Amino acid sequence: MLAKKESPRKEIAATKTLKKIMANHFYDLDEAARTGSKKIAWCTSVGPAELLRGMGFLVYFPENHGAMLGATRMATELIPHANAIGYSPDICSYLTSDIGSYLAKKTPLTKAYNIKSVPRPDVLVFNTNQCRDVQDWFSWYGREFGVPVIGVHTHRDIGQIRDYQIKDIAKQIEDLVPPLEEVSGQKFDMDRFREAVELSRQCSVLWRTCLETAAAIPSPWTFFDHTIHMGPAVVARGTKEAVDYYELLLEELNQRIESGIAAVEGEKYRLYWEGMPIWGKLRPLSELFISLKTCIVASTYCNSWIFDQLDPEEPFESMARAYTELFIVRDEAYKEQYIKNCHEFFKFHGIIFHDAKTCPNNSNNRYGMPERLSKKMGIPTLTINGDLNDLRCYSEEQAKTNVEAFIEQLEEN
Ligand code: SF4
Repeated sequence: MLAKKESPRKEIAATKTLKKIMANHFYDLDEAARTGSKKIAWCTSVGPAELLRGMGFLVYFPENHGAMLGATRMATELIPHANAIGYSPDICSYLTSDIGSYLAKKTPLTKAYNIKSVPRPDVLVFNTNQCRDVQDWFSWYGREFGVPVIGVHTHRDIGQIRDYQIKDIAKQIEDLVPPLEEVSGQKFDMDRFREAVELSRQCSVLWRTCLETAAAIPSPWTFFDHTIHMGPAVVARGTKEAVDYYELLLEELNQRIESGIAAVEGEKYRLYWEGMPIWGKLRPLSELFISLKTCIVASTYCNSWIFDQLDPEEPFESMARAYTELFIVRDEAYKEQYIKNCHEFFKFHGIIFHDAKTCPNNSNNRYGMPERLSKKMGIPTLTINGDLNDLRCYSEEQAKTNVEAFIEQLEEN
């Protein structure tokens, strides 16, 4: 029998607690769906989760399920089920793999948690701040389950954010209250809402601080760790568990820094990842970069769950601000300045752009940004073609060759 190859990745001890939080998140939803003990709201990943939590809903995030479908490599086989009912292979592969999973009655929750299916929603709530696909995605389930689909329509491609935009989004979030009251059967409680906003703020501040530890040289963790440990910031923001978790993680990361523990042994190069993760290839990519003594220290993607603008004194306005100031909502000039600021802070030597075939919203390489940034910042960039979930769009060999050549180029410089 062949011995199992040991991974060069350094396990983070807090992962044990992380796994418990994620498991409890799904067990709670499953129980509520089976017993009707609590109402369930589905929410987009950068949707108004604080309001839902503050109104007593359990919150389920289909994009998190989409990422699980990608990470378990179930997505590629399930996408054609959604294509067969008219959802194009060119649109978001979270959407197509998630709807495909529902149609094929197969979910990674079964193997991971012995849960048969995703929890039935009582209401679906989206925010188009990230893309239009989320509204189409939720509308499909709305028709399937015969439940309301409500949401927020955010202004997009924004440079400077104007007051009227914030007022509009705040009002749209506030307008969600009456239909949510109708579904929940409970009166809106401002204090409870403020509490969820405050907990979400604390979670965000801690998540940001955790991500910022990667500015240390060598970095105590990598982008590939971030994609795993962002779980509670996505699915449990607005809860005490998420706050406690990031306190624990931060302590461990700071200890690593104090002891000089590098996530990548002999760290030589530092990179920035721009775009979606390639969920089904996290492990091989992470090991490839470790073998090249290269640490991906930061990414736009994992920074997307920092909402430290939240303020319980102004819950609607601050939510509007937090969910509008996001990178994905902004114009090219803002995005370039954002990455430039990250470069100054994290001190990376180059940028990898992931051109995700089915997500134009998170593929910022398509309108000349890599070339402009390279010129402005004096560092090289590399574009990898792939996808978040559809591995038919990704050539591992090609990516490996390109990454190796890119690191050689850094070496020559
Ligand atoms: S932002 Fe991209 S990956 Fe996320 S839901 Fe929209 S299309 Fe899909």
